[in-house]
Amino acid sequence: MLQSPVRHRHFIDNRDAAPAGGESIEVVDPSDGSVFAHIARGDARDVDVAVRAARRAYDGDSGETAGGAWGRSSAVERGRLLHRWGELVLEHRDELAALESRDTGKPISQARADATALARYFEFYGGAADKLHGQTIPYQPGYTVLTVREPHGVTGHIVPWNYPMQIFGRSVGAALAAGNACVVKPAEDACLSILRAAELAAEAGLPAGALNIVTGLGAEAGQALSEHPGIDHISFTGSTLTGRRVAEAAAARHCPVTLELGGKSPQLVFADADLDAALPVLVGAIVQNAGQTCSAGSRILVERSLRDELLTRLSERFAALRAGPAQDDLDLGPLVSRRQHERVRQFLAEGDASGLRVAAQGTVAEHAPAGGFYQAPVLFDEVPASNRLFREEVFGPVLAVTSFDDEKQAIALANGTDYGLVAGVWTRDGARQMRLARSLRAGQVFVNNYGAGGGVELPFGGVGHSGYGREKGFEALYGFTALKTIALRHG
Ligand code: NAD
Repeated sequence: MLQSPVRHRHFIDNRDAAPAGGESIEVVDPSDGSVFAHIARGDARDVDVAVRAARRAYDGDSGETAGGAWGRSSAVERGRLLHRWGELVLEHRDELAALESRDTGKPISQARADATALARYFEFYGGAADKLHGQTIPYQPGYTVLTVREPHGVTGHIVPWNYPMQIFGRSVGAALAAGNACVVKPAEDACLSILRAAELAAEAGLPAGALNIVTGLGAEAGQALSEHPGIDHISFTGSTLTGRRVAEAAAARHCPVTLELGGKSPQLVFADADLDAALPVLVGAIVQNAGQTCSAGSRILVERSLRDELLTRLSERFAALRAGPAQDDLDLGPLVSRRQHERVRQFLAEGDASGLRVAAQGTVAEHAPAGGFYQAPVLFDEVPASNRLFREEVFGPVLAVTSFDDEKQAIALANGTDYGLVAGVWTRDGARQMRLARSLRAGQVFVNNYGAGGGVELPFGGVGHSGYGREKGFEALYGFTALKTIALRHG
């Protein structure tokens, strides 16, 4: 018997809540194109209810600043709570991974790794909550000056669909540890793991209103969140264009924003590189999550004398890659949606039309359902700096190789896009490693590795069109606080 699709509602004040407009959005399984659930289509009214709930948790009913159950919580309590939440996430790892995998098309082992990372964020920020402190500043005689880090109050979090659990975890983990109450707007293409994780937060003991989830479309619920006067800080992760819109809406009321946007991240491979070590990483950095990763290594810049060998060996690996249903756990799952599939195909068609040579491509498994959004990975050879595939983020499994003649040209090519998120450098030359690390325009530089396993401890964010502010690591905690300086004159 066919089961009717599950209907999910918002999560506000530790309970589910029906959308004011009574409408819903279909949730599509990218592996076969079928509708298997519905989420609530939230609008400004639902966002307002959620912001009020968060304000009550933070300020209490009387409206006294930080007078609510969450506003008064101690750092130790918040830390314990985040730890409990992390334990519950680990206990429910398979359930969360199954939801994420079905919702996004992510191969199940990658979804499991994301659930583990979600727990890691709560462990990390749980441990950091009571270590976030200010300083004393030597000033003139007769004064004692100190700084304290205070939560902003109510923080808004707009999350994309590519790593829902990870991006939700890093953002609310740090915000809650710092003492903020949160309102989250997940992406319309991927909400289910976040809604379930929020239920686990309530089970862990998070007071009502400290964490609220409103699902819906970007132009409706997302826009309403970025315009709401009750939001004191916004953390946005998503595309460069939407990030600009969110920042503009927030600027109208001087609300601080952290923007984690896109990237066109290069990996620079010099002739002296350890190619055996580099190859699996070069491939993995574009294949993981079917290339729908902001920090995907989507450009390879290779020293010309190594180019033929690199291209031959990369091509062998690309030809062996297979895309298939998420549950089959192949190298790649489908892309997240029909829209994303069309976008990637458009880039590929333009690559062909501009005369680029495809050096190799993978395959889609024969048994993959026809309704799924599958894209075999594609390797383009000698992509010139003027080509869109060199400059623009595809957000799919498409890798562009470009040769360089010397270090100076390599740096110019690497820095030759509007983005600046991540860069990788492969060389055995120690001095060059450091020169490159300092010259590359990026928020993270990896030498003889790429991503360092995605550690939650490592501050992450970009420059230029990749955004500003930092998530992850201890650094993120600073972003979720406002620094206050207190100068006491005592004579
Ligand atoms: P998107 O910008 O379309 O959507 C991101 C989120 O913003 C979603 O929740 C969406 O509903 C919401 N949104 C859309 N329009 C809005 C509006 N007008 N006002 C407020 N919110 C709105 O991006 P996407 O397609 O979901 O995600 C892909 C992009 O995200 C890529 O460019 C990728 O590089 C970027 N990304 C960046 C990072 C990072 O940490 N730097 C991480 C993951 C994804």
